[in-house]
Amino acid sequence: MTAAHAPGPWKRIGHRMIADANGNAFCEVWSGGCDSLTAADATEALIAAAPGMLAKLRQLAGECAECQGRGCRDCADIQAVISKATRAAS
Ligand SMILES: [Zn+2]
Repeated sequence: MTAAHAPGPWKRIGHRMIADANGNAFCEVWSGGCDSLTAADATEALIAAAPGMLAKLRQLAGECAECQGRGCRDCADIQAVISKATRAAS
């Protein structure tokens, strides 16, 4: 099942909170779950960048010379990441 994610771009709004394009905070990275504050900050940055990375992956898959994004062996790794990122929890 595919589900739409919170509208991007996402932005860091302080205290390791992330908000969607409408300014709605929807995620907080708890530093206690990370090895250090630096790791928590890096995790926050990675999450906040996710919509942009997903868009870039979709662009790259669409530019595949072999399949133009329909799926083939050349871009299977990209398609797998897109699928993982867009699959709803089951
Ligand atoms: Zn391909």
